[in-house]
Amino acid sequence: MVTDGHNHTRHFSPDAQQSIDELIDKALKTGIQRIGITEHYEIDFPEQDGLNWMFDLDEYYKTFLDWRKKAAPIEILMGIEFGYQSHIASKIDETADKIPFDVVLLSNHLFRGRDFYDHRECYSLPKTELHREYIGIMAEMCERCDNFDVAAHYDYINRYTPNLDSFVLYEDCPREFDRFFEALISKEKALEINTKSILKHKERGFTRTMPDPEVIKRYLAMGGKMITLGSDSHESEGLGACFDETIEYLKSFGIRELFYFKNRKPYTEGIK
Ligand SMILES: [Zn+2]
Ligand SMILES: [Zn+2]
Repeated sequence: MVTDGHNHTRHFSPDAQQSIDELIDKALKTGIQRIGITEHYEIDFPEQDGLNWMFDLDEYYKTFLDWRKKAAPIEILMGIEFGYQSHIASKIDETADKIPFDVVLLSNHLFRGRDFYDHRECYSLPKTELHREYIGIMAEMCERCDNFDVAAHYDYINRYTPNLDSFVLYEDCPREFDRFFEALISKEKALEINTKSILKHKERGFTRTMPDPEVIKRYLAMGGKMITLGSDSHESEGLGACFDETIEYLKSFGIRELFYFKNRKPYTEGIK
């Protein structure tokens, strides 16, 4: 099975339940041989829950050396998921160099200063206004930051959507999507397809669960080649969730390889 490039553990991510042992155990059972561990790191996160969304990077590095030994034969990649906000772009670029990461993810969990998770009112905004603003932030994130490898879950906005009508589509904000893809492609960064949104939609019985086909088509048409896959697991049941069907979906666009990062360099793996 291909690499699962986006996972969290309870040791460094305050919202994760799984331990490293549980994650490794699950990988052995499901046949996933390589896992990216990408703990949350939210600089200057607006206070909302009393949780600590940052951790000691040196301690993470030291811990990871032990994890690597005990994870074998599973290969684990030392990663981080930076939450973007406009005023911390340069801080993210600096912090990403502090320890020798394998992979650096950027994402945006916020809309007007609050996480969608507890900001469901935002879904009452007109759909195009909401999506223009959100994808516009994804574009800005990739334009302003340089020291990263992957833009994670561009469709985070879909996770808590009350119904399918507010699903983010290419046609809602083509200019913002084009800016987003232009920045990714020109900087040779990867686009993540995050299967947690797919899983959430399946659980809720939505008829559409996969990312908008027009989003994928446009990314490819603009010259995008680097796609990573991540389950965003926080508990061990999530590892590799929906991978088989997502891979089939991606293949239907002619995609024949996926990417993962090690020592901050891209590697491919075939999905024939
Ligand atoms: Zn999380
Ligand atoms: Zn995230």
